[in-house]
Amino acid sequence: MDYLQGLNPEQRAAVEQINGPVMIVAGAGSGKTRVITFRVAHLINKGVDAFNILVLTFTNKAAREMRDRITKIVGPDAKNIWMGTFHSVFAKLLRIEADKIGYPSNFTIYDTDDSKSVLRAIIKEMNLDDKLYAVNLVLNRISAAKNNLVSWMEYQKNDQIQADDIATKRPMLGTIYQNYATRCYRAGAMDFDDLLYKTNELLKLHPEVLNKYQHKFKYLMVDEYQDTNFSQYLIVKKLAAVNENICVVGDDAQSIYAFRGANIQNILNFEKDYPDLKVFKLEQNYRSTQNIVNIANSIIANNKDQLKKRVFSEKEAGDKIKVMRAFSDNEEGKLVAEDIMQQRSTKGLNWHDFAILYRTNAQSRSMEEALRKLGIPYKIYGGLSFYQRKEIKDLIAYFRITFNPSDEEAIKRVINYPRRGIGDTTVDHIIVSADKNQVTPFEVIINASQYLDGRTAGKVSMFATMIQSFQVIVKNLSAYEAALHIAQHSGLLKDLYEDKSVEGLNRYENIQELLNGIKEFSEREDLEEKGLDVFMQDIALLTNDDNDKNKDADTVSLMTIHSSKGLEFPQVYVVGLEENLFPSQMSLNSRSDLEEERRLFYVATTRAESKLTISYATSRFKFGTLISCEPSRFLDEIDAQYLELDFTAKPASSNNPFFGDERTAWTSKNSSGNASGDTFSKPKAPPVKTTSILAKAHVPSAGFAPSDTTGLQVGMEVEHERFGYGKVLTLEGNKPDIKATIFFKEIGQKQLLLKFAKLRIV
Ligand code: ATP
Ligand code: MG
Repeated sequence: MDYLQGLNPEQRAAVEQINGPVMIVAGAGSGKTRVITFRVAHLINKGVDAFNILVLTFTNKAAREMRDRITKIVGPDAKNIWMGTFHSVFAKLLRIEADKIGYPSNFTIYDTDDSKSVLRAIIKEMNLDDKLYAVNLVLNRISAAKNNLVSWMEYQKNDQIQADDIATKRPMLGTIYQNYATRCYRAGAMDFDDLLYKTNELLKLHPEVLNKYQHKFKYLMVDEYQDTNFSQYLIVKKLAAVNENICVVGDDAQSIYAFRGANIQNILNFEKDYPDLKVFKLEQNYRSTQNIVNIANSIIANNKDQLKKRVFSEKEAGDKIKVMRAFSDNEEGKLVAEDIMQQRSTKGLNWHDFAILYRTNAQSRSMEEALRKLGIPYKIYGGLSFYQRKEIKDLIAYFRITFNPSDEEAIKRVINYPRRGIGDTTVDHIIVSADKNQVTPFEVIINASQYLDGRTAGKVSMFATMIQSFQVIVKNLSAYEAALHIAQHSGLLKDLYEDKSVEGLNRYENIQELLNGIKEFSEREDLEEKGLDVFMQDIALLTNDDNDKNKDADTVSLMTIHSSKGLEFPQVYVVGLEENLFPSQMSLNSRSDLEEERRLFYVATTRAESKLTISYATSRFKFGTLISCEPSRFLDEIDAQYLELDFTAKPASSNNPFFGDERTAWTSKNSSGNASGDTFSKPKAPPVKTTSILAKAHVPSAGFAPSDTTGLQVGMEVEHERFGYGKVLTLEGNKPDIKATIFFKEIGQKQLLLKFAKLRIV
């Protein structure tokens, strides 16, 4: 039981409390995930059968890491634990029980693209305005309904939903939902939300199934519980109802998926659901230095909705949090890349010790460009999965039809790829005939001569015969041999081979890569079932991190803050701290949305172990135009005593009219009336806290820009718009590049370039 030594008394108590309901709500880095990991190992050591343990994590990667650690403690038994994301665990359960709800066990999982394609077709067939019924909006509405367990029937009659202004303006939403559900069901397909929705349905309609899993899963654990939605909450509650051996861990301050239906009430309800609940508090942060913990605490203090908790670190104070200002997004990338370069060499770090976190995917471009220029290896996490690439989806579509011939989206995708002379009109005709005759499109395809003209029918029949031959093949060959056969005989491999463009070559190689992956899979010794059907079952649930061939490569990590949840890195850069970007424009309408953005900022900062750097740009390209940006209000809110400002970056000395002294020309456009985009907007109400960042508490006298520093001399007292009062220590250089070193009362010594400094002699 050596592993128990690696826990503090409170963590250990939570690990050893194996029976009954347990909840840990604690700040970032306090060891919540560690408690779950050790708790599972402890259960197994205490004689609990690994088959009786269910652990729900937020990402596949988290599950893999947890399993590895548990294996180190308890050995190979760990492979029998049911562990994974809600989606992957319940997809597995649904495959076992699919027949109970009228699905084939080979049901297809429709990814977001598939779902959108189905909806697009429905909206078109219903002759609806596709601007009013924009696919993304419709999908979001359906998704929200499912995550709240609202069926299409209830949706159509629910007054409250009808009264909702989105619904009233769009009275056909309920019918679209109905058609979508029918279409997916007919295709033997479930979308992501169905994996939870149908699990609920299964457990509700089939008490014997519920009973079976209540007894199977004697011990349940859920990480990142604050981000579960109602659908997930209910599954867990039902499964735990008999034994009540349930342990959830989370942090309300890190709830960042409300936009996707996550409900913080799930934490609060937990106490009501289990009156015997044992609550454990973890207060020590083992991840980060004191400065980082302090700054994170000062961020979250600005939120009204939060459970107050104490978080402290016993690590060293560490570096202050550096704030870097850039004049453009490209320059921001450059500053970050150069800083990484420098930190790495002075501190002897590896590339993988660094992470760059951003609010939106689009921000990765300028970062990537800068990293590439300096030859810094990097990897983007959470991006497009390997399995989302066109050619890969094409081949997988053949696999999908082979195992699930009802899979309409897969049929639409490849019935005429490679070209077989089956046009869109024929495809539409097939779908319409299927609808009319209440059969699946594949039945129309097999009996083409009954539904289609002679020549077209011939081509469609050949497609049907080919798929039927694949159905025989997969029964007789290994996963790899079958996959290779399908790639060849569908004509796909040849089509890609003949395309000699660079992209064509690349696509061909990707298919090879997929085939290699299948080969490795079919040779795995730890698996009993290794058919092609097993290989492709949960492919739709994989992200690009799950197919990482170079897992151990030494690279800088780039990702959105959302995907950084639960992770940690020695040095973290949080970039793009600008109004309308972070917080995002969409969040500015309500306090609760703004508070979610602030929690996101809290998540971002708490990923850092030893050094945190924050940056912003004063202008940025958006939709092809350069716009001026104001620093984020979040910068204003944090306690300046933990910050160190690095404003040494000079504007690019290009002839770009947006930079340089002309800046006043464009910054004066700022609606707030600020003198410049790089100043912090003046507070309308006094800020909540202590020393304001950049001495914003120091509300300066009017008229700082442009500053008049003619006649400035060493020893003079000055007032700076943000840094407050100070004394000039030295003056160096020649006009117009004179640098002044000034000692400011509030923030200490700074070197400023006079031509930019908002300075006044007092
Ligand atoms: P988050 O809220 O970000 O998910 P968390 O509460 O899950 O954080 P962990 O990831 O479990 O925190 O732990 C943070 C770091 O602190 C990890 O590196 C972990 O190994 C380490 N740690 C936690 N508890 C201890 C301990 N008692 N002794 C040593 N290291 C610890
Ligand atoms: Mg964690």
